[in-house]
Amino acid sequence: MPTRLEHFIGGRPMPPTEGQYFESTNPATLEVLYEAARGTQADVELAIEAASKAFDGPDWSNLTPTRRGHLLRRLADLVGEHGDELARLETEDNGKLLREMKGQLRTLPEYLYYYAGLADKVEGSQIPGMDPAILNYTVREPLGVVGAITPWNSPLTLTVSKLAPALAAGNTLVIKPSEYTSRTIVRLAELASEAGFPDGVVNVVTGFGREAGAALVEDRRIAKISFTGSTATGRAIASSAAARFIGCTLELGGKSPNIVFEDADVASASLGVVAGIFAAAGQTCIAGSRVFAHRSVYDELVERVAERAQRIVIGDPLEDTTELGPLAFGDQLNKVESYVRLGVDEGATVSYGGQRPETDLPGYFYSPTVLTDVDNHMRVVREEIFGPVAAIMPFDTEEEVLRLANDTEYGLAAGVWTKSLARAHRMARHLEAGTVWVNTYRAMSPMSPRQGFKSSGVGIEHGLESMHEYTRLKSVWINT
Ligand code: NAD
Repeated sequence: MPTRLEHFIGGRPMPPTEGQYFESTNPATLEVLYEAARGTQADVELAIEAASKAFDGPDWSNLTPTRRGHLLRRLADLVGEHGDELARLETEDNGKLLREMKGQLRTLPEYLYYYAGLADKVEGSQIPGMDPAILNYTVREPLGVVGAITPWNSPLTLTVSKLAPALAAGNTLVIKPSEYTSRTIVRLAELASEAGFPDGVVNVVTGFGREAGAALVEDRRIAKISFTGSTATGRAIASSAAARFIGCTLELGGKSPNIVFEDADVASASLGVVAGIFAAAGQTCIAGSRVFAHRSVYDELVERVAERAQRIVIGDPLEDTTELGPLAFGDQLNKVESYVRLGVDEGATVSYGGQRPETDLPGYFYSPTVLTDVDNHMRVVREEIFGPVAAIMPFDTEEEVLRLANDTEYGLAAGVWTKSLARAHRMARHLEAGTVWVNTYRAMSPMSPRQGFKSSGVGIEHGLESMHEYTRLKSVWINT
């Protein structure tokens, strides 16, 4: 019998009201890892009640912001101490490389330390007025119960990016993790409890998006939804939130351009292109899936990327030498396979990959794939595949590549490879993307705010700005 994973509500594990569970499978071995509680509206209501009670209760509402910071620091320490355990649990859940997860777990505490330090630095201000007899000042207040909904591709990091500023600002949380990756998020809530957060401040309801997720979004007691996931789900959540005039932060999909100019160091650019699209088997929102190479370096770049792709070691994500693990679940594999078939039907050439590789494990593996003879009109170039598939296209001028790079509904990130400082600044200014990397790709820090432009998001995560997303501003006028 697989082990059972319960919800975490009011500071303790709680079985599902309707007694239903669903299986979670290791995508590398196809073993059933555990059965998770299948959350329904009744479970979500219990979690919101616990979070509301905690929000109003003296243990949380009377805690000074400095003390909230201390609790976050303790949680950071615990996450650090349990780093290896959490890394392994996440690798088993979603197939990400253990080596990479251990790296992520080394930086994850920094997110919590950063917001711990900000907890007592969220200030209102005194506003100069028209009437000297009236004192006007502003106060930043927590919102209440925040609903956090997260995806499966980087569950811990994406959940902590919401939890840390939300708690630092004094809110309480109900988290609905992806149905594919429940375990590390329940473990995170247990660690929060161990760190000393009062019961009900951090709650987790596991289950499916259309059941537990939708119930969370639609509950009138939720003050804000913080969501990371696909643009389609984000759109549904935004319209539900709009009907109740509650705020939402949405971190959505992408189809990011990675642009290699003729004056770039093509060797290092090709490594940046490879890391940009094949890391985490292409299952990152910021994947540099549209690669534009200046015509004079196009052949060399394609050759270098295909040659590196050929040497990528595919296999068991627990092994230190593995460079590419499986896709996270069966439907992901089907989606990637069907997109590559579609690309070929649209006229693309598979320069490398395009098939399931031979591996020792039975899981959802797919070769790193390079598509050429592609253009901006094709669906493989316009739609988010969320797999290890790079489309590489030539261009002739800076104006042309800017137009092509910006010709997308998305605006999450962009990469530029050039030795020209002036060109780097021009591109950074004109690219319609919330993050622009020059001569690097995927750099990230809790201190640096990030925002998706266009259909890639609403609101800001990370940095001081993210704290403000979890507060509301009250203006007080006192006739002295
Ligand atoms: P998804 O939208 O299918 O699911 C995300 C979460 O929403 C899951 O917890 C799911 O259960 C829940 N959900 C689904 N339908 C719902 C509904 N109707 N109401 C409420 N909740 C619902 O996305 P996914 O497949 O888990 O994640 C991949 C997507 O996430 C990609 O598009 C990727 O680009 C995006 N992503 C964005 C960022 C970012 O920072 N911009 C980061 C990581 C992933």
